[in-house]
Amino acid sequence: MDLTAKLSPERADFLRRLKNGTCSHAFIVEGAKGSGKRDFALWCASALLCESHAHAPCGVCRSCQKAAAGHHPDLHLYGEGEKAITVGEVREIIRETGMVPVDGERIVFVLSHAERMQAPAQNALLKVFEEPPAGVVIFLLTEARRALLPTVRSRGQSITLSALSDAELERTLRIRQPRLGADELSAAVRASHGSLGEAMDFLSKDATQNRIKAREWLYAAFGSDKYRLVSLVSMPKYKREQAIAQTDAFLRLLFDLLLIKTGARAVLLSPEDAEELGGRATKRALAAMCEMTMESRERLEANGNVTAVMTNLASALWSAAN
Ligand SMILES: [Zn+2]
Repeated sequence: MDLTAKLSPERADFLRRLKNGTCSHAFIVEGAKGSGKRDFALWCASALLCESHAHAPCGVCRSCQKAAAGHHPDLHLYGEGEKAITVGEVREIIRETGMVPVDGERIVFVLSHAERMQAPAQNALLKVFEEPPAGVVIFLLTEARRALLPTVRSRGQSITLSALSDAELERTLRIRQPRLGADELSAAVRASHGSLGEAMDFLSKDATQNRIKAREWLYAAFGSDKYRLVSLVSMPKYKREQAIAQTDAFLRLLFDLLLIKTGARAVLLSPEDAEELGGRATKRALAAMCEMTMESRERLEANGNVTAVMTNLASALWSAAN
């Protein structure tokens, strides 16, 4: 069985090179914000530092666990905060590349936000980036490769990140949020199209709250108590942005229900909700509800009175659903 089959092309390629000894020692990892550059680099670091040579990264040895968490003594992380890596830090990096590994045979450096580094800092890095001491591997992470000096660009092997596979995204989310329920986890994976950034947004406290409320709206709309729907939709003292975010969350669930009615698989709703709500809602009602929710959203965007818009929306949703 090919163990690399489920990996993204970049990870599979990195492993192949590592195994056949053609791995570079300097990488430029490019990807949009939230594309998982840091996780990719930490994953590569796990593979480089893993105690199991045959199955690196095994994911279970001490080295893999420490590397994945970013706390391995032979893993050095720079540029993690808001500030650019300075010339002084580059000098520190150069000094550290000359050290003997604490645990194994390699020392790995991950330099985040490399595009923020000023030219003197990039220049100072050049020598060690071009020809790191034996056992040293450096990853430069950047949102824009072109913001690096041409001299730096030409010295590293470029890797542009594509979307993560579902399995990778799920694994990464499990590490980031170990207490996450299975339903939320799989919904985040389905909704994020391989983007770690989108998945993290999806799982943010606000987005989760909005989804919970949107689900209550749905059950109330297809329930028997009009006042419950009205109180949920129009009673909260929403600020404009909150109301917009909340109607967006509701719209997504409506689209999800429409998908179910066309025989597709739900993206956001759990199978139980999909079955229960799908049984109560007609396609026609859902289409009308989508329409009026979008209209309300437009009114909110156009500075309409928030309470009035939400009150009208509650009544309209009730009429459409019943
Ligand atoms: Zn391992």
